[in-house]
Amino acid sequence: MDKMRALVKTAPETAALLTIPIPRCGSRDVLIRVKAAALCGTDLHIYDWNLWAQSVGISLPLVMGHECCGDVVAVGDAVTTLRIGDKVACETHVPCGECYQCLNGQQHICSNLKLFGIHINGCFAEYALLPAMCARKIPREISYDIGAVMEPLGTAWRAAQETRVGGANVVVLGCGPIGLFAVASALALGAAKVAAVDILPARLEMAKKIGAHMALNALSDQVGPAIQSATKGYGADVVIEASGSVDALKQSFQYLRKGGRVALIGLPGKPLSLDLAKEVVFKEAVIIGIHGRKMFETWTQMENLLVSGKLAVESMLTHVLPLSLWQEGIALAKNGQACKVIYHP
Ligand code: ZN
Repeated sequence: MDKMRALVKTAPETAALLTIPIPRCGSRDVLIRVKAAALCGTDLHIYDWNLWAQSVGISLPLVMGHECCGDVVAVGDAVTTLRIGDKVACETHVPCGECYQCLNGQQHICSNLKLFGIHINGCFAEYALLPAMCARKIPREISYDIGAVMEPLGTAWRAAQETRVGGANVVVLGCGPIGLFAVASALALGAAKVAAVDILPARLEMAKKIGAHMALNALSDQVGPAIQSATKGYGADVVIEASGSVDALKQSFQYLRKGGRVALIGLPGKPLSLDLAKEVVFKEAVIIGIHGRKMFETWTQMENLLVSGKLAVESMLTHVLPLSLWQEGIALAKNGQACKVIYHP
């Protein structure tokens, strides 16, 4: 038994479920039997081979997927932190361990960062290989499906945490999975009010279901006035931008009160112009870019809260499919019907 099924991006125009060799453990690696893997917007970009995918240094063929959870089935000679049988969730950011950032507590933005499922083979497969340091042991109480979304959840969690949402009026722009995870995180961190903004009714329904106090449709509602009136005319204390829309990014600053805080997670497809004097300098806006999770403080906090039940995200895992139905999962994610699609390889 040395072969496995894997979803491989084989060429710019094609992806296919193939039978390929199971990867072999290097001395610092662990081999993981993948039990659940979640589909992310990044996977859709790679599948479509859009301009972003073409620009980030991907070499094909590539096993797709980077959000997963499973059991360790083999460990390299030099691995002392994990054992066969450990349940692990995977950190996508693979740091070098030697650069300035790595040596100064910022491994998640390593200068030589490699990304699982983007620069190295990923997890839409029966088995996945990662450096042991990127496989985070999690307790048995956390299900494989939840373990598979700890990676995107951690990004959203960190945005809410770094913007200090406790007691704050928060606006979340974009209600894809990351935006919805940000709504859940803001609520878990004690936000006073959370307004969620999107253009798809199904996503706004989900935002309400998980506890957003307001769900505003940017196409049909007067979002700015609604936020003003919900905040006594001051504007939002915190805006979490998770849409990547250039218009939404500009509006982030319009919705923000003076002295407020903005977390940027969404990736705009093009440069944008902003009236910095008005929207940032005179407003004293604090802008925080969020590229993934702190390694591993964010993971520790998420694990604690998931186990205690204070952070609940089950309802966002809307579709669970065998990997053989990968095309169906992509279609569900693209048409906005699904929040999070989980594959069981
Ligand atoms: Zn580094």
